[in-house]
Amino acid sequence: MTSLNITADEKSLLSTGQPLVWLNPNYLNAEAAPETPDIAGIYDAEARLLRFAPLLSILFPELIEADGLIESPLLPAPTLNTAINPLGGQLFLKADHELPVAGSIKARGGIHEVLCFAEQLALEAGLLDDTNDDYTKLAQEEGRALFADYTMAVGSTGNLGLSIGIMGAALGFNAVVHMSSDAKEWKKERLRHRGVKVVEHTADYGAAVAAGRAESDADPRSYFVDDENSPRLFMGYAVAALRLKQQLDAAGIEINADTPLFVYLPAGVGGAPGGITFGLKTLFGENVHCFFAEPVQAPCMLMGMAGDAGQEPVPIYELGLQIDTDADGLAVGTASQWVCDAVRHQVSGVYTATDESLYRHLHQLKKLESVEVEPSAAISCRGPAMLNTGTGKQYLNAHNVANSLKNSIHIAWLTGGSFVPDKEYQRYLEKAIKISN
Ligand SMILES: *Cc1c(COP(=O)(O)O)cnc(C)c1O
Repeated sequence: MTSLNITADEKSLLSTGQPLVWLNPNYLNAEAAPETPDIAGIYDAEARLLRFAPLLSILFPELIEADGLIESPLLPAPTLNTAINPLGGQLFLKADHELPVAGSIKARGGIHEVLCFAEQLALEAGLLDDTNDDYTKLAQEEGRALFADYTMAVGSTGNLGLSIGIMGAALGFNAVVHMSSDAKEWKKERLRHRGVKVVEHTADYGAAVAAGRAESDADPRSYFVDDENSPRLFMGYAVAALRLKQQLDAAGIEINADTPLFVYLPAGVGGAPGGITFGLKTLFGENVHCFFAEPVQAPCMLMGMAGDAGQEPVPIYELGLQIDTDADGLAVGTASQWVCDAVRHQVSGVYTATDESLYRHLHQLKKLESVEVEPSAAISCRGPAMLNTGTGKQYLNAHNVANSLKNSIHIAWLTGGSFVPDKEYQRYLEKAIKISN
């Protein structure tokens, strides 16, 4: 195995599927991240989403009330806080499971990337004079005819496919989603219903992506969304930080040295949690502490962050693991190298959790806060308990936050769930109740 910043004990826990907290030795070490993206990218993405907002209100009537912005509420969760947070302070749930249009955190990055391509085409074709033009024109005949000449393609285990497919098809693109064998049937159905072409692959996520990329590359009028290497996705995700700051301001919460912010982010290839971390670090600096959360069977971001800058992430297969988890959105074997390099000095650490603990939290969310999420999202509720372990406390002491925990703000980022069909959710819940009793 390539050199990794993990101890023998950590390696043994990882390879035997036991939970742990791994602290990032490169945290705050800016030299470790020669490739830090340009902060201006966040504001560009925010401005683009605003330009498209009137058009999105036309394409998706459910966005009219929010003036075309795709955003989720920040929910206080005092009851759940008592149950899951031994550290003190307040707990909030960032309700991305309710994000309109795509039903998951992928709405942020995926939709932004589709809009980047659409905007570029419309400007080049002269359909838009400039970025101050009226974007609602694109919903008309001429715009749809332009987009119909192009294909938007993506490889996905599910949620990214929903986001790209739904937005691509709504604009008039030929949308093609390459699905891995573990993708849920209801996701394929939902896409077909929207006019998206679903290509089923018998192999895993990596293979679906490779096949999708090859097919798309062969067609000059096809645009491939590359989950493993996409600044456009990343910046779309990062916009969440600007919106979160507004929500904290509205709640009268100011993040500073006495009121530190802890954010727990479910991680797959890394784009969504990485983009959000990048945005939050830009706004709150060392007063925000971002921890990534992964299933014990798929700690790919941990492996990627434990490598050195510019080093290809080591796949979890080298630990002898097989991605055996019900956390669909997190079932990834190899992290994005681009993301690892982008946030190598910004992520505080990574914790892992068993599927059993995800189900316990899925049950608590339902019982205590009436919130329904998919198993992936529930992993974010494990954060405070993991920071209360020996390794977690070592972090709190090293970064001088142990004494301000009573004022601390904790955010469990709920990344998906509202599109899960009720029957499917009931199955999750039944399993969760059985495990919890
Ligand atoms: C994709 C996804 C994530 C993680 O995002 P990455 O960009 O793959 O790290 C987390 N939760 C859910 C529900 C997802 O679909």
